[in-house]
Amino acid sequence: MPRAKTYRGAADLVAAGLAPSGTLRELEQVAARYAVALTPDLAALIDPADPRDPIARQFVPAAAELDRRADESGDPIGDDANSPLEGIVHRYPDRVLLKLAYVCAVYCRFCFRREMVGPGRRRALSGAALAAALAYIREHRDIWEVILTGGDPLVLSARRLREVMAALAVVDHVRVVRIHTRVPVAAAELITPALVRALKAAGKATYVVLHANHPRELTPAARTACARLVDAGIPMLSQSVLLRGVNDDAATLEALLRGLVECRVKPYYLHHGDLAPGTAHLRTSIAQGQALIRALQGRVSGLCQPAYMLDIPGGHGKAPIGPGYIRPRPAADGERFEVEDFKGGRHVYPPGVAGA
Ligand code: SF4
Repeated sequence: MPRAKTYRGAADLVAAGLAPSGTLRELEQVAARYAVALTPDLAALIDPADPRDPIARQFVPAAAELDRRADESGDPIGDDANSPLEGIVHRYPDRVLLKLAYVCAVYCRFCFRREMVGPGRRRALSGAALAAALAYIREHRDIWEVILTGGDPLVLSARRLREVMAALAVVDHVRVVRIHTRVPVAAAELITPALVRALKAAGKATYVVLHANHPRELTPAARTACARLVDAGIPMLSQSVLLRGVNDDAATLEALLRGLVECRVKPYYLHHGDLAPGTAHLRTSIAQGQALIRALQGRVSGLCQPAYMLDIPGGHGKAPIGPGYIRPRPAADGERFEVEDFKGGRHVYPPGVAGA
């Protein structure tokens, strides 16, 4: 049976009933600016009768994307300022991003690289650019970790990925290769045994970081794809973006985080939405994010809890921005703190000696 097609473009989505026909003109304007792709796996999760469907909100373009705010930027986390050559972002001394692909299986409406990815560009780093990027990694002996990102590196062929991993395997100072991807939830059938084998670099630790934002994304097919990776000895982490109308309530986040852990995927980061152009309608406030993290503290175990992170605009790196649970408390007899428990109760630490 032929595989259902990926929806590309506003007319495709309207024809399939996944976007209202009255919005076609505006959505075509959005699609002319930012790439659109919705895979059959994810389209099948959308309830077309629900105007607030959390999967549609992530992938179906919206007229609100035409509203570009003054504080938004085409490069909100400052990749370009930290890019010494094409394909490499070197922000921290011990790690680099290696941007292998310029395309993705799906295009997320909140993407912070939305002006850098999509059709109309080359699919992947050219052979010459890849050779130069690998030479840069070999020459910089402080690089302990290489993070494959893009675009989505897992849209590339197993052969291409095997070549890159083989090139990294012979670099002694590189010990860890981390791969960021949305493919296990967006196009699970691409996680083939051959692709999984290609991700192993001899003598290196390979981690795969799954990008998932809503518990509905963890379909049986996505769970099988994750199991294939983990069973092959590849530890998995997750990153999610806090998105208004998608996962900005404690029950949805709890279901997502529990689902990830059940898939043997350790929740790693919950990102605050970046100041990407046309994404204000999808961002929450930081205060809302902190309140959600505080609510999760009492609802799920540490195994389920991600760190709430902000990428500081301008390329200054990430900062954890979760709520604080401890504050100094003046004491004449030494260092004391007030610490908050998961029910909101406050306690002095150290408690001190009764009668002292
Ligand atoms: S898969 Fe990642 S890089 Fe691609 S559109 Fe989504 S967020 Fe952006």
